[in-house]
Amino acid sequence: AKEAGRNTYQYYSQDVLAGIQRRLQIEHALHGALEREEFQLVYQPLVNVDGTRPPAIEALLRWVCPELGPCSPAEFIPVAEKCGEITRIGEWVLNEACRQAAAWHAAGLMFERIAVNVSAMQLRERGFAEQVIAICERHRWPPHRLELELTESALIRDSDALRQCFDTFERNGVLLAVDDFGTGFSNLHYLNRFPVQRLKIDRSFVQRMLHDAGTAEVTQAIVHLGHALGMQVVAEGVETRQEEAMLLRQGCDEIQGYLYSRPLPSRDMAQWLRRCDE
Ligand code: C2E
Ligand code: CA
Ligand code: CA
Ligand code: CA
Repeated sequence: AKEAGRNTYQYYSQDVLAGIQRRLQIEHALHGALEREEFQLVYQPLVNVDGTRPPAIEALLRWVCPELGPCSPAEFIPVAEKCGEITRIGEWVLNEACRQAAAWHAAGLMFERIAVNVSAMQLRERGFAEQVIAICERHRWPPHRLELELTESALIRDSDALRQCFDTFERNGVLLAVDDFGTGFSNLHYLNRFPVQRLKIDRSFVQRMLHDAGTAEVTQAIVHLGHALGMQVVAEGVETRQEEAMLLRQGCDEIQGYLYSRPLPSRDMAQWLRRCDE
């Protein structure tokens, strides 16, 4: 038994070591990745269900590292957060998303807003709100057509600085959405404190809702809660007509997922928008 225990420990420590090694590789490769232009944005539509408004678009970050190959944001963003690199990467994302959005609008393509993921760390950076407004101005992109997607973890810590940041967003009309809603914290006070316009139901709920009545009740409750607070509700990760049908019955306002489109490079997104307009 002692032997088995030791083996288990060995396997465990090897896993941990491999994880740390991978983290260090990513951290090393991230250094200078911006300058080497290794990042790219892809775009995924959020479809308005009643068809009265054009779709919105979410920008998602992609990184093809010459040494490590394609690396998912789910893997490298946490590393970029830990080593502080996220601040500069996040600024690049905002800048590139607004630049592209403005170029599409200038080309006559119709969409309601561009949504950008913002990490908790960016939000805590001094002068972040002013930076966001400056980026909008640089590209002449109306702030009320920019939505920042924040996770619950970014919103639970209340502070004067955060409040000032949200004041600036509100004054300028910048929109806020809570991403991965329902996966984080049970304390929902922040929904009243901060000017949030939209809740995004996490993909994990959408995946389970057809097979699990309890999960379907959760998504229904999120829609009711959002609407009671005067917010819109989006479902992400929608892959099938059945999922879509249930979410529509529940009163969801927008649908995002492979059912409509995978995240696309800018050219393909432009084409998708053109077809959508026909
Ligand atoms: P997220 O913001 O919740 O984005 C949704 C993720 O689900 C995206 O993964 C998207 O490609 C994927 N997805 C969309 N529709 C479907 C579907 O129908 N089925 C399935 N199976 N997946 C779907 P992605 O692009 O790998 O991004 C993962 C996460 O990385 C994002 O989750 C977000 O938290 C983070 N992320 C991505 N780009 C950025 C960024 O520019 N800045 C920050 N801070 N985080 C980012
Ligand atoms: Ca998101
Ligand atoms: Ca999400
Ligand atoms: Ca998610």
